[in-house]
Parts: sequence; C-alpha cells; structure tokens
Amino acid sequence: MAKIEIIESDITALAVDAIVNAANPSLLGGGGVDGAIHRAAGPELLAECRTLGGCETGQAKMTKGYNLPAHHVIHTVGPIWSDGEHDEPALLASCYRECMALAKAYKMQSIAFPAISCGVYGFPVTLAAQIAIRTISECLQDNPYLQKVYLVCFGDAVLKAYNEQFYQLMHDG
Ligand code: ADP
Repeated sequence: MAKIEIIESDITALAVDAIVNAANPSLLGGGGVDGAIHRAAGPELLAECRTLGGCETGQAKMTKGYNLPAHHVIHTVGPIWSDGEHDEPALLASCYRECMALAKAYKMQSIAFPAISCGVYGFPVTLAAQIAIRTISECLQDNPYLQKVYLVCFGDAVLKAYNEQFYQLMHDG
C-alpha cells in the first residue's frame, strides 16, 4: 500500500515510465482522458495505435509516449457499466491486472492510472476505486520493480472516493 499514491492531476503531465489510457476498443482515440493523451502525445501515437488492431475489453496494449513526459502509454479498454451483472467488476479488475503485468514485464518503476471506466463508461466510482486499489495492491506483492503507482483523480468526486476506499482498505483490509 505504501507504493500507492492518490493524486489530483492531469495524467498527461506526469513523467513516469507509463501512463495508462482508458481507451475504447478501436484504440483510435476518443474523448476524456483518451483525447487528452492523444493531444499531448501528438499524431505519432495515433499512427502506432493504428498498427495494433484494436484491443478487447479487459485487455491492454502498450505504445511509446512520443511527446508525453511519460515513456510509454498502456492502453486498456474498461467495461461499459450497464447493471453490474455483465462481468463489469471482473473486467475492470482485468484492466488493472493486465496493465500491472505489462509494467512488470518491462521492469517499470513507476506507472500512473486514471479512473478507468469512471467517465463516459459510467462505472460507479466507489466500486471502481475499491477494485483499483485491491487489484493493484495484490499485483504489487509480486513485483520487485515498481516503486510508485499513482492513482490519478480528475475532479473532487473521484478524489474523495479514492481516498475513502484507500483509508478503508488500510484499516479494514
Ligand atoms: P472511460 O470511457 O473509461 O469512462 P473517460 O476518459 O471518460 O474514460 O474517464 C475516465 C476518468 O478519467 C474520469 O474520471 C475522467 O474524469 C478522467 N480524466 C479525464 N481527463 C483526464 C486527464 N487529463 N487526466 C486524468 N484523468 C482524466
């Protein structure tokens, strides 16, 4: 848990080994954090994404960071929330796990996640925060390289939910 840090920031500003993009299955850009990352990285990012053949929900694919201060972008596709009965929690956990697996494979020391699925995809923020923190904590136990995992919150509601869940998991396990 000591390696997890909750911050309020624009993820495109972070100089880490990788930032995670909450992408859509085409990997060809979109709104929200996806749009912000593509704007900041420049057109070469889209060119590389075109070579990847899309990405399934719950999976992740990596590119370079181009004009971003981050070295790499890990693109993952979160589930669209419908009613919680369509594997949404398991798919969101899979996003975090797949990104953490890439971070481990490339021996990354730092990674930053946005609140995957918590924007247009409509995932309830409290549940998403719980899944993010639990899954990342589990993956960290098995990763000798990562020193810092930033959970990047954009806006007060997400920041509050993350802080509450973090506090609860610290105290109640
Ligand atoms: P999704 O389609 O997975 O829901 P969104 O991009 O709509 O993805 O939203 C995911 C989260 O990313 C939301 O909490 C949104 O407020 C946040 N977000 C949007 N822009 C940025 C940014 N520049 N940096 C960090 N987080 C961002």
